[in-house]
Amino acid sequence: MKRIGILGSTGSIGTQTLDIVREHKDLKVSTLAAAGNNLDLLERQVREYQPSFVCVYDETAAKELKNRLKDISIKVLAGMDGLIACATENETDLVITAMVGMIGIQPTIEAIKAGKDIALANKETLVTAGHIIMPLIKEKQVSLFPVDSEHSAIFQSLKGEDISKVYKILLTASGGPFRGKKLADLGNVTLDDALKHPNWAMGRKITIDSATMVNKGLEVIEAKWLFNVEIDSIQVLVHPQSIIHSMVEFMDGSIIGQMGTPDMRLPIQYALYYPERKRLIAGERVDFIKLSQLTFEEPDMETFLGLKLGYEAGRIGGSMPTVYNAANEWAVARFLEGKIDFLTIPKIINAAMENHKLNNCPSVNEILNIEVETYDFVKDFIKAELSN
Ligand code: NDP
Repeated sequence: MKRIGILGSTGSIGTQTLDIVREHKDLKVSTLAAAGNNLDLLERQVREYQPSFVCVYDETAAKELKNRLKDISIKVLAGMDGLIACATENETDLVITAMVGMIGIQPTIEAIKAGKDIALANKETLVTAGHIIMPLIKEKQVSLFPVDSEHSAIFQSLKGEDISKVYKILLTASGGPFRGKKLADLGNVTLDDALKHPNWAMGRKITIDSATMVNKGLEVIEAKWLFNVEIDSIQVLVHPQSIIHSMVEFMDGSIIGQMGTPDMRLPIQYALYYPERKRLIAGERVDFIKLSQLTFEEPDMETFLGLKLGYEAGRIGGSMPTVYNAANEWAVARFLEGKIDFLTIPKIINAAMENHKLNNCPSVNEILNIEVETYDFVKDFIKAELSN
């Protein structure tokens, strides 16, 4: 029996993880955590999966959930202490980090310190604190399994291979809803346009990140940390069918990749059961006859400045990926609220990166301070922009 803690259980990755747990008798949920925006769902999850305890980050929502669950004896925790308690619960074998944003850094670090294996979906954590997390993984001798489909594909392609013989990593990208568009076409796109991803059904923030290609920038930095490779040995390749999830090219010119339908349950299940392969209960399989073609394109980094800035942040390193990520988190939240337009997102990230004074090796506290400083800077920046 494997016991799993799920941070972000009410989101896209969290609910798909629970779908897998429902189908397998050898998986048990140890803890659940969410922000508190979907209490009906969280309540149903607690009743169905009966975790040891649950955390709702928002204190008022935590009180409300406690009240709703007074007929069963379950502890409802709140805040960062609650998230950390969920991440470090005694009997947990593996923690799946499926929260959105940098809020994942501290619980992930504490889970590793407590000796838990990690299935990492929350890429923002590795992007901003990879230099702290990767050595800690080694020190505590725990495993880190990527959940992001591209990184799972690279992980699978590297199985049994010598990482020093890697020539380059080919990180595939669908290109998002605006593939093929030019800057002039993107001035008036709406939130609904940006939320229409051609291949993947995901949470709102990552869907917008896919439309700007910031998601790919974050993934380039994530891959650098996960596989210990140089940023410039990671090549992004637009592959609109999303069947090849990524590939590794070795020194001898051989290329190994992983394919499958665009279904996140596949990499989630692989991370939960590694190294075992289980049958994926429901869902389509790749049919090459129907598929007929797999195509590839170079990414247009002048139109999708978000990707170019991601490479830049990754090359500079230190605290720059934190600024890239924090400015993006702030900008995407405002775009989702309808307060800024689509092309203002990369503009904000660019301004924040230009303004930043680099810290080469920030501590966790410094990363969290830089997050706040970046928010303060971009708030002022956007105020000035709007008043012009
Ligand atoms: P969603 O927006 O669908 O879900 C986010 C989850 O995080 C929700 O359960 C939310 O709770 C919870 N959450 C947010 N803030 C907090 C907080 N302060 N404390 C506790 N829980 C919190 O996101 P996704 O599932 O799409 O993405 C999650 C992560 O996985 C992201 O880092 C994303 O980049 C990554 N990822 C996602 C993929 C996908 O297919 N969706 C693919 C690859 C990576 P609530 O419901 O209460 O708001």
